[in-house]
Amino acid sequence: MMIKKNDIYEITVTDFGNDGEGIGRIDGYTLFIKDAIPGDIIKARITKAGKSFGYARVEEMVKPSDDRVTPVCPVAARCGGCQIQHLSYKKQLEFKQNKVKNQLERIGKVKNFTMHPIIGMENPYFYRNKSQYPVTLGKDGSIQIGFYAGRTHNVIETEKCYIGTEGNEKILSVVRNHMESNHILPYDEVNHKGLVRHILIRKAFATGQWMVCLVINGKKYPNADFLVDELRQFDGMTSICLNVNREKSNVILGKEVINLYGEGFITDKIGDVSFQISPLAFYQVNPVQTVKLYQTALEYAGLTGKETVWDLYCGIGTISLFLAKSALHVKGVEIIPEAIENARNNAKLNGIDNAEFFVGKAEEVLPAYYEQQERNGIQATADVIVVDPPRKGLDIRLRETMVKMHPTRIVYVSCDSATLARDVEYLTRNGYELTDVRTCDMFPMSGHVETVVLMSKVQK
Ligand code: SAH
Repeated sequence: MMIKKNDIYEITVTDFGNDGEGIGRIDGYTLFIKDAIPGDIIKARITKAGKSFGYARVEEMVKPSDDRVTPVCPVAARCGGCQIQHLSYKKQLEFKQNKVKNQLERIGKVKNFTMHPIIGMENPYFYRNKSQYPVTLGKDGSIQIGFYAGRTHNVIETEKCYIGTEGNEKILSVVRNHMESNHILPYDEVNHKGLVRHILIRKAFATGQWMVCLVINGKKYPNADFLVDELRQFDGMTSICLNVNREKSNVILGKEVINLYGEGFITDKIGDVSFQISPLAFYQVNPVQTVKLYQTALEYAGLTGKETVWDLYCGIGTISLFLAKSALHVKGVEIIPEAIENARNNAKLNGIDNAEFFVGKAEEVLPAYYEQQERNGIQATADVIVVDPPRKGLDIRLRETMVKMHPTRIVYVSCDSATLARDVEYLTRNGYELTDVRTCDMFPMSGHVETVVLMSKVQK
């Protein structure tokens, strides 16, 4: 059978794809269908046809799945921010748990591990503490602030984001009014003109502090004083800044921050540890779940107070400091210098003196440390190594060095279960066994899931 773009087929959706899209089959030909879920019977319009698989969208709903719900957000289907708002929350959790289990079994080639129940949210809305709104000029000349539609740079205007922070819309409206009255243009990525690219808003949920950062294609923002005066009226406004990004690129933030108000950071708390967060530093976006994630990491680390722990990809030192109180010594490694500056201050802020931090790539810092020790006739070891890499997972060189340091436990925090499974496969071939897996829903309404696993050294 020849399947072509724009053909329409009636099919029953049977499975989930990795991002939460639906999967249906026509005589063995696989279709990935946006916004469809298992149990739906639909008329699907082919949007892209490959040789053995293709993509489609729902042209007409013939019979909806019992797991379908009406999204609370009116723009859920168009906006790229959420992928599975139309799926009941219970089923979202089931989908994520199964995805991780399947990938560990299939890619990781492991079985006989304990898959603990997923940690879901009681209220899976308004959970994000950070939002980055693109700003563009509409066809009618108006300023558009919202989120990108899936896989495009068309901005879908959103008054209110149901997974964002309540109150963001008031801040956005102040910026919009200021831009309009001062004739400040949004950035246009086609001709690389205009000023305002993104508005980044962060809120520290535990302390109520706000940060507003305008990402601009320039070094100056006209009449910034007036904007600062207005934003300061918000209860908890603690940091206002500009971020300079003059690159022709999809990367949101540039390297330079110009401080307009405050000390350049906000302070939040996770459990009983306080953290200063600067605009360029990574910080977990879902504070309600972060504490549960870190508690799992702490539990898996199995600390008694005598251990040397490495926390690789440590950001502002959150996991490092969360573990430091129960360990002998913690060493954190992170690539962003500003984040390490935060991490060092955070140690001081919490009176923690058994944590030290290194700037650099984990895959360079750890091997260099290992080789240095070796030259001194010392075998570098660690009791526990915690890793929390970005989606691409661990670098080969880093994995090799980790194994050479033969930690008793490796605690792997992952935001991409496919690369996690790949690394688990490597570690099981090199003296480790996967014992415990715990998924945590840090990103309700999206297809993403966070996982913490414990890999233990196999006793000879
Ligand atoms: N564990 C921290 C941060 C996790 S996010 C937390 O829970 O908050 C991953 C972090 O890895 C980010 O801070 C990112 O800046 C950093 N990073 C990315 N590539 C890196 C590399 N090659 N070496 C070290 N850190 C890296």
